Amino acid sequence: MKMSQLFVQTLRETPSDAEVVSHQLLVRAGYIRKLTSGVYNFLPLMWRVLKKIETIIRDEMDKAGAQELLMPFVQPKELWEESGRWGAYGGELMRLKDRHGREMCLGPTHEEIITAIARDALKSYKQLPVNLYQIQSKFRDERRPRFGLLRGREFIMKDAYSFAATQEDLEKEYQNMWQAYTNIFNRCGLDTKAVQSDSGAIGGNVSHEFMVITDTDAGENDVFYCDDCDYAANSNHAISNLAEAVTDGKEYFNKTEIIPTPNCHTIEQLAEFLNIPSTLILKSLVYIVDKKPIIALIRADKAAEETKLLNAIGGLDIRIATSEEIAELMQNHGFSAVPGFIGPKGMNDVQIIADNTVKDMKNFVVGANQTDVHMVGANLCDLGMSELKYADIRLVEAGELCPQCGKPLKVTRGIEVGNIFQLGTKYSQPMNGVFLDAEGKAKPYIMGCYGIGVTRTAAAAVEAHHDEWGIKWPLAIAPYHAVVVPVSENDEQQVSVANEIYEKLKSNGVEVVLDDRAERPGVKFKDADLIGFPFRITVGKTITDGNVEFVTRATGEKQVLTPNEAISIIIETVENTK
Ligand code: ATP
Ligand code: MG
Repeated sequence: MKMSQLFVQTLRETPSDAEVVSHQLLVRAGYIRKLTSGVYNFLPLMWRVLKKIETIIRDEMDKAGAQELLMPFVQPKELWEESGRWGAYGGELMRLKDRHGREMCLGPTHEEIITAIARDALKSYKQLPVNLYQIQSKFRDERRPRFGLLRGREFIMKDAYSFAATQEDLEKEYQNMWQAYTNIFNRCGLDTKAVQSDSGAIGGNVSHEFMVITDTDAGENDVFYCDDCDYAANSNHAISNLAEAVTDGKEYFNKTEIIPTPNCHTIEQLAEFLNIPSTLILKSLVYIVDKKPIIALIRADKAAEETKLLNAIGGLDIRIATSEEIAELMQNHGFSAVPGFIGPKGMNDVQIIADNTVKDMKNFVVGANQTDVHMVGANLCDLGMSELKYADIRLVEAGELCPQCGKPLKVTRGIEVGNIFQLGTKYSQPMNGVFLDAEGKAKPYIMGCYGIGVTRTAAAAVEAHHDEWGIKWPLAIAPYHAVVVPVSENDEQQVSVANEIYEKLKSNGVEVVLDDRAERPGVKFKDADLIGFPFRITVGKTITDGNVEFVTRATGEKQVLTPNEAISIIIETVENTK
């Protein structure tokens, strides 16, 4: 491909709406253009990258024994009603009506469709296990589309679904997919960490996310991990052991009483005023779950984890209550306390859920639903809660102890590029996806599902591989392997050697661009670095001595080589990544 013909417009300025590096560089280097919020055109360079990622995925999925198919993008409401998700899936589900008024949705994921395919076809245990996958556009009306391809509304996903007769076979396939994912991300030049995670709206029991670890804002997930063992988990799922803390306030309070705590709106103010450790304070947090207020009780030195809380309640949607909602809740129960003084006592008919660590608290301090007042020396039995549910609703913090080996946990950020779930019978049961076992008994399939964000993987690769000048594509997913740059378009020798190198690379299966533009060399080099060609051969003045400059983008290394030496290195390296 000649650069003069390549469909690419590079920009010197960073687009104003691009917060993270991958978004900035993919726009600046001419890979993507926004059509509307969270929806992008994948221009020719981007499409080449995406096709390469898809090819690697197909290769590894096929090798792992999965079979590719393609399901429709538009899905009928009826199937989603069968699974119960028409009502359960929130605003992310893009619903629409056809001209006859029939309701449909744009596929955000395909469990319903694949289960319907399976139940028509897989009737006997003899046909199992099966793993089917597709690579296709998905649409999710994300609450906050952002970060370019990292969180789009329309994006490309590889989604696979497995059907097994037994839990054991599901677990085997889960391991099989784990290995395939490891291979896929390795081949894409991405270092990933598999972390335990919450199963979210898709449901099921066991799941892992494959994370690209990053220390930038692009990492939307907090990952807790242990250096001493293999424990790693998303914050929505991580657990830990706590170091010893003061949880019995006997020496501070010898009786239960209500005392004035003027202006103690925060935990810090209260702890200072009473001269106690914050581990002795029971914090009452008001959340709105599926439009109803609930109260979460947690030791005040710790924070609540919303996903854990939501799961413990079995709700669909959670957010912290506004001060107006808290005021209304107080009023409905005959109180008037402002936030900071809320407590569980007297909150009849409100669901109250306590973190497991609250069980150990004795003689503690808690809000008394009256402004500027707290109850001290309190115990759970004093609070008159008829039904108190305990669960792990606590957000782990770095430094807490690894649940597996007891060493301090560390935290980092991750971009989730893929995940694997053991779904069990979550879809097969309600949708009547059954097979006959060896005894002729009808049983629901034991399912798994396995996703990879193709577009997100490309963006994550940019997050992981770039510098201030541009992208440093891993060779296996670069749009082109190399660029050949004659320094002066007016120098006949430079132009003819550059052409020869270009032809030779092409005929040896190297994907190469010849920068034949009548531009200044500085412009050509800047574009080459921005676009991120893994190799650059520059043909300049030294060609009179028979030498070219050979630049490796990933390392920045510059070598003076003969054209043939440079050509051989590229051909060999490209061969080795195939
Ligand atoms: P997230 O927690 O980031 O929203 P998810 O749990 O909703 O992801 P899945 O439903 O399991 O993700 O989808 C499988 C894969 O699809 C994810 O691992 C991710 O790589 C990709 N993906 C999900 N949502 C988006 C999105 N909005 N934009 C781009 N890729 C996405
Ligand atoms: Mg999501």
